[in-house]
Amino acid sequence: MSLSDLLKARIAADGPISVAEYMHECLLHPEFGYYVTREPFGRAGDFVTAPEISQMFGELIGLALAQAWCDQGSPSPFTLAEAGPGRGTLMADILRAAGQVPGFIDAARVTLIEASDRLRNVQRETIAGVDLHFLESCDALPEAPLFLVANEFFDALPIRQFHRSDAHWREQQVGLQNGRLSFGLGPELPQPALSARLDDTAPGDIVEYCPAAAPVAEMVGRRISEHGGVALIIDYGDWHSLGDTLQALQDHNPADPIAAPGTADITAHVDFEALSIAAPCAHTKPTPQGVFLERLGITARARALAAGLSGDALEQHIAAHRRLTHPEEMGNLFKVLGLFPENGSPPPGLDA
Ligand code: SAH
Repeated sequence: MSLSDLLKARIAADGPISVAEYMHECLLHPEFGYYVTREPFGRAGDFVTAPEISQMFGELIGLALAQAWCDQGSPSPFTLAEAGPGRGTLMADILRAAGQVPGFIDAARVTLIEASDRLRNVQRETIAGVDLHFLESCDALPEAPLFLVANEFFDALPIRQFHRSDAHWREQQVGLQNGRLSFGLGPELPQPALSARLDDTAPGDIVEYCPAAAPVAEMVGRRISEHGGVALIIDYGDWHSLGDTLQALQDHNPADPIAAPGTADITAHVDFEALSIAAPCAHTKPTPQGVFLERLGITARARALAAGLSGDALEQHIAAHRRLTHPEEMGNLFKVLGLFPENGSPPPGLDA
């Protein structure tokens, strides 16, 4: 039995499913889901994320969060949270760097929002010696100041896709054709959630909509507006969703998203405008990751680390700096959105 067989049986019995249902099963099915069964990260996995490229990424984010915490009067206790922590590398680097700031670690309740039990165990190992609090979802975040980071979390939340006709939409679905999983279009229907998109799209356009994203942004933004804090949301995406951005990655190469469900990572671009609208607090402009990291001083940090390196290690370090910041690598594709209290200051490295 494979996830493909299970989905085929379900579709044969109940009819086509939405792309969001398909994506959810692929990523988090309790037995066959990608994050449940596989080690996706790193050179041996399917993709490499920024914290796995260099320790500089997490260090600078740790210092940015600690600076924002100081700027807001060093509240104690507070929630230091990460949504979708993967292997736990980013939080480990954050804690090491921000640990230099007096009082920060003592005041922090370190909270990881993670759906996969397997990854929770990996995170416990990576972030050893720290009292960790695990949450299934953001709605259980404590009523306290919140300093949160989410790197490549929102891109893993399932999206629905709609093809526009005149005033209505047809939803992209996963169904069966000749016994194989295949994409098709559902009936033409009005979609109240997309009514604003009738103004900025034309018939034939594809619009994506992530039902889980807005509630997460709303809950995070509400903690920030009621108790203080900031959020740094880092992901690939655009201000406004347009077009089909569903993609699968396997062994660092693009794969067909419906060829072998559960065996490849599936993501979609993040619609940053939707997050900023849902969060009931102030937000920054989406800033390219390269610009953000340069403003936080990555070049100075890279030079300091380079002084202790030679040979291959030095070459790799230089390549890692370039990969994180260069516009042709991750520097431009990835954007950073900051959330912060109304009448407060934007987090370091970002503009209101
Ligand atoms: N931030 C990490 C990993 C990103 S991969 C890094 O930068 O390396 C996405 C992470 O989000 C994984 O840890 C995955 O298990 C988690 N995840 C995916 N969907 C989730 C959901 N609905 N709720 C909580 N965690 C989720």
